[in-house]
Amino acid sequence: MIEIAGISKHFGQFRALNNVSLQVQRGEVMMIIGPSGSGKSTLLRCINHLEVPDSGRVAVDGTPVDNNERHINAVRAEVGMVFQRFELFPHLTVLDNICLAQQKVRKRSRQESQRVARELLEKVGIPEQAAKHPPQLSGGQQQRVAIARALAMQPKVMLFDEPTSALDPEMIKEVLDVMLDLAREGMTMVVVSHEMGFARNAAHKVVFMDQGTIVEQGAPDVVFTNPQHERTKLFLSRIL
Ligand code: ATP
Ligand code: MG
Repeated sequence: MIEIAGISKHFGQFRALNNVSLQVQRGEVMMIIGPSGSGKSTLLRCINHLEVPDSGRVAVDGTPVDNNERHINAVRAEVGMVFQRFELFPHLTVLDNICLAQQKVRKRSRQESQRVARELLEKVGIPEQAAKHPPQLSGGQQQRVAIARALAMQPKVMLFDEPTSALDPEMIKEVLDVMLDLAREGMTMVVVSHEMGFARNAAHKVVFMDQGTIVEQGAPDVVFTNPQHERTKLFLSRIL
């Protein structure tokens, strides 16, 4: 579903990604862990062309992620993304936040997009919040709106960049539960997060990154209980 072949990315002289290759299969839930600055967000952002690699190739569902606008639009229509900061429009209602791209990109009618939005608010457990504005919601509720908004586009892949790290502890679970449901429904997911419980329950594969490279990858129980590299051991000893 996602093919990343030997990508590198520099910011000035600094090498954020160094020859990274990764494949995500359809229905796979992949978790990316690693220290701050190791390139996790940059890698994720290369999948939907929010960053452009200097070299190497990325493809999503067979479409090359290159500078061709048609390709970029096709990929963005298939790839949903959820950020640490929810990036909702504060001046729009929750319902309108979820409807906007449906109408603009998917060309759905107002009525149809609202039907989809209400269905998804039900799915993420906050149907009663439809008429409010994002600043009136808790962080966990806002993040669930952001997930609903991404799902409204019927993506084939969902990318999550530290979706719970801006949340208070009691709100983390409500967001992880929604993600767990998605994983169980077979959504292809790439998740940057250090939530080990989620990794154990939902991830098929854990990828450990350091200094712009993939140091090791494998099933969560293997990587967590029997890491092969010193750098992985050191990192895990700090977060587990
Ligand atoms: P964190 O856990 O803190 O989110 P990360 O693993 O997601 O870290 P990235 O955000 O991918 O790391 O950043 C990798 C490196 O590239 C960092 O050193 C960062 O400072 C640098 N970097 C990222 N984006 C830019 C940018 N737009 N301009 C300059 N440097 C950048
Ligand atoms: Mg990051």
